[in-house]
Amino acid sequence: MSVRPTSLAGPVRRRGLMFVLSSPSGAGKTSISRRLLERHQDISLSVSVTTRAPRPGEVDGVHYHFIDRPAFERMAANGDLLEHAEVFGRHYGTPRGPVEAALAGGRDVLFDIDWQGTQQLAENARDDLVAVFILPPTAAELERRLRTRAQDSDEEIARRMSKAAGEMSHWPEYDYVIVNADFETSVAQTDAILTAERLRRRRLIGLGDFVRSLSLPG
Ligand code: 5GP
Repeated sequence: MSVRPTSLAGPVRRRGLMFVLSSPSGAGKTSISRRLLERHQDISLSVSVTTRAPRPGEVDGVHYHFIDRPAFERMAANGDLLEHAEVFGRHYGTPRGPVEAALAGGRDVLFDIDWQGTQQLAENARDDLVAVFILPPTAAELERRLRTRAQDSDEEIARRMSKAAGEMSHWPEYDYVIVNADFETSVAQTDAILTAERLRRRRLIGLGDFVRSLSLPG
């Protein structure tokens, strides 16, 4: 993927990165990503397409692009999805265009996607990917969070609980793992990962010239 660098202070610039947050439903990933976006206005959120129905309060084009199955299949067949996966019997995918445009403009992109999508991104652009997995502190707390969210039926909650163990087994494929016992702590930890990853030497462009300029006689 061709990436235009973001400006840092001085002549040193940086490649944009793909910042993935994954977790079982109810572990708090959506709240953490919302806070991250408030703090960092320069990050673009990747808005996925999905064939699932909107939950109360979800807005088309903001939380997801809600599309039907034939439209999803057309996008997948045309190569318009950077990755796609089936989760809980519904289809989800990342539209390619907005992500490539953001990265090409040197902007970081935040993804709220599952382990299947993360694997696909890793296959295509490992160097530009930072993958964070968020775990709940206990199974009981995970169920409590799913229930207090109260947007899904009992049947849907039971389905999501039974899937959570399988999803959580993918934690070793991630660069970082956060146990979300306290929301503010988890936000601070996520923020620290983003800050450190933005400073990774391999993402910096023009560093050699910059250091050489430091050695020139005044
Ligand atoms: P929910 O239906 O609760 O919004 O999302 C269910 C799961 O699908 C979550 O784990 C979420 O991260 C994942 N998901 C949402 N959008 C995408 C996507 O575009 N690609 C993939 N692979 N997973 C997604």
